[in-house]
This record gives sequence, C-alpha cells and structure tokens, in this order.
Amino acid sequence: MRSATVTSLMAAMGHEQVVFLADRDAGLRGIIAIHSTALGPSLGGVRFWRYASEHDALLDALRLSEAMTLKAAAAGLHQGGGKAVVWWDEPDRPRPKSLLHALGRAIDDLGGRYLAAEDVGATTADMDGIAEVTQWVTGVDEARGGSGDPSPVTALGVVHAMRAACGALDGEPSLRDRRVVIQGAGHVGAHLARALVADGAVVSVTDLFEERAESLARELDIATLPAGDALFAPCDVLAPCALGGVFDDDCIPRLRCRAIVGAANNQLGVATADRDLAERGILFVPDFVASAGGILNIAEEFTGYDRARALARAAGIGETTARVLSLSREAGVTPQRAAVDLARRRIAEEGRGRWRPGDPSPFWRL
Ligand code: NAD
Repeated sequence: MRSATVTSLMAAMGHEQVVFLADRDAGLRGIIAIHSTALGPSLGGVRFWRYASEHDALLDALRLSEAMTLKAAAAGLHQGGGKAVVWWDEPDRPRPKSLLHALGRAIDDLGGRYLAAEDVGATTADMDGIAEVTQWVTGVDEARGGSGDPSPVTALGVVHAMRAACGALDGEPSLRDRRVVIQGAGHVGAHLARALVADGAVVSVTDLFEERAESLARELDIATLPAGDALFAPCDVLAPCALGGVFDDDCIPRLRCRAIVGAANNQLGVATADRDLAERGILFVPDFVASAGGILNIAEEFTGYDRARALARAAGIGETTARVLSLSREAGVTPQRAAVDLARRRIAEEGRGRWRPGDPSPFWRL
C-alpha cells in the first residue's frame, strides 16, 4: 500500500497517529492506531488475529480505534480511542514472551498516549507479559492490582442494553422468555449466555469453533446453531459477540430478529446498514454503547480497582442506551446516528486537543 493511501485514510477518519511495528527476532508484526486523545489517553484492546492482508489489518486498526473514541465519549469517560492489531495465525497458541515484550516496548515508546487492553484473541496472560516492560497496559491480573478479564463486565453491560432495547420495543424490559441468539461463544459470549440464562431468556449460541459453542451449550443446557445459519434464526434479540462487519447488504434482508444488541465492535458492515436495519423495523443498539462495560471496568483500575463499582457503572449502560434510543426517536434519526452525535458533541464540548505525555488526566497512572 502506498503511504499516501494510509495518510489520506487517516486524515479522512481523523486519526492522530498510526505506528507500524515490526520486530523480526520476536516475530512481531502489528499496527497501533491512535484515533483521538482529545478526552484523554487513547485506550483500546490488542487484537491478535490472522489477517488476509496488511490492508485488512490497517483498516481494522483504523476503524476499531475510531470506535473506541466514540465508545469512551458516549460512556462519559475521560479517555480517547486507540487499538493495536497483531498478526497471529493460531488464536489458541499462546504468544511467546519475546513477542509480548517487543509489543510492550513499542507501547512504552508512546509514553502513555496508547493504553493497551484485551481484545479478540488476547488474554490476561498477554496483558501480564506486556506489563513486564511497560506500565501502559490495563487488564492485568487482579492478583497484580489490575482489573483482570473485562469480559464479564462487558457481558453485564450488554444485558442492561438488551433490557433497555426490550423496554423500547414493547414496554417490557424483562428478558424472561425472550429468544436470544448469541454469535460467538468466546469470552463475552459465554458470560452473556450465563447471565441471560439466569434471567430466564431462551438462549442459542453459535461459534466458528463448534466445540466452543457445544461446550457452552452443555454447561447451560442451551441449543447450538450452525455458524452459517445463526444470524438468520428467528429470535427477539440477536447478540453479535464475534467480529465486526456483520450487517451488510447480503445479511440485512435475511435477518429475522426484532433487535440487535451485542458486544462485537463495528457490527455495521456498510455505511447504509443503520438505515437499512431501521427500514426493516429492527432496533439496532450501537455496539459502542452496548459494549462499553469493558472500558468502564478498566477505568476503575486507574482509581483503585473495585469490582462492585465497575459492575454498578456497567449497569449504567442501560440508561445510556435508553437515552440514545429516546434521542433517536425525538430527532427521527437512527440510534447509530444519535449515539455518534452524542459522542461527538461531548468531544467538541470537553475535548482538550491532543494529549501528550505529562499532561494531566483523571486516568493517569503514575
Ligand atoms: P473472543 O475471541 O474471546 O471470542 C470471539 C468468538 O467469536 C471466538 O470464539 C470466535 O471463534 C468466534 N467467532 C469469530 N467469528 C465468528 C463467526 N463468523 N461466527 C461465529 N463465531 C465467530 O472475543 P471476546 O473478548 O469475547 O470479544 C467478542 C467481541 O466483543 C469482539 O468483537 C470484541 O472486540 C468485542 N468486545 C469485547 C470486549 C471484552 O471485554 N472482551 C469488550 C468490548 C467489545
């Protein structure tokens, strides 16, 4: 890819900085994208994934970091948006220390402008490894003073967003007897399934790795669906908890759900997807609103981690969702548009330009 293409993409999307990483000896290839530090240091997960091309990896980093900016702003946090992607072909093969250290050194060079966290493919052990060479990492093990795996809190936030969506659909926020299909039986999907079953919902689950879905189904006595069909199963709520780009021109006409509420980042695969979903009468809760539990959990880490407080803040996602849905109704725009406007307004009103090492921040950890 020509560098002019990268910088014009960055400029179009409003990115501050993109760093390309390569360490031959450590086997590291990756990208760190900092979208915005207007509200504070950029925070976003590290994604270990098998990318088909450098172009795909770059686009993922640019889009995911932009979504993190919106997510932090909509959640009321003093954080910006960033993301790291690392080429990794075998999701279940642990990352060697040498690679984590090389990544950690690259993060350290940014002096706190990018704070790493867990994302798809990453584990608490990865965060612990990165933490051996830099302080700019969150989600390290609770035993080491961190907030640990954010996914239970993310899942709880999704449950509260789902209740708000059901309340908006038919005035009844209870999830009892609601049919919910979860795409992705990974960290968030598994915790979400457990919470929904406890709430009396009728849950089905699917995963590209069938054994993951089957093992969760055995644990909870719930149904599994084949990965190719799951999105189109009739249900009340579809919960995408795998990867982004789910809803495109091919998928949207075939959906048979009433609402979409899930944790996967960047679920809308085409620019018109939010309008197309609205035209089909499907209530779409913006993913950056529903999935904010993870960063609310991490924010607690900077003020002395307290799980009970993190869970209480994640419960607030229900109110944020209800607010977004009511703004959308009042303005006659899609929930996605209403949420983006809400986030951008906050950045415009409270943003302080670029954050630099040494600048004060409520989440600055010394
Ligand atoms: P994970 O890697 O633990 O799980 C993702 C699962 O999705 C995997 O089991 C994978 O096999 C499966 N999958 C991938 N593509 C699929 C497909 N097409 N159909 C069915 N299954 C598929 O990741 P996670 O931590 O559970 O995160 C899930 C999503 O939520 C991601 O998009 C992530 O960015 C987002 N998210 C996660 C958190 C968090 O706290 N972990 C916070 C906010 C957002």
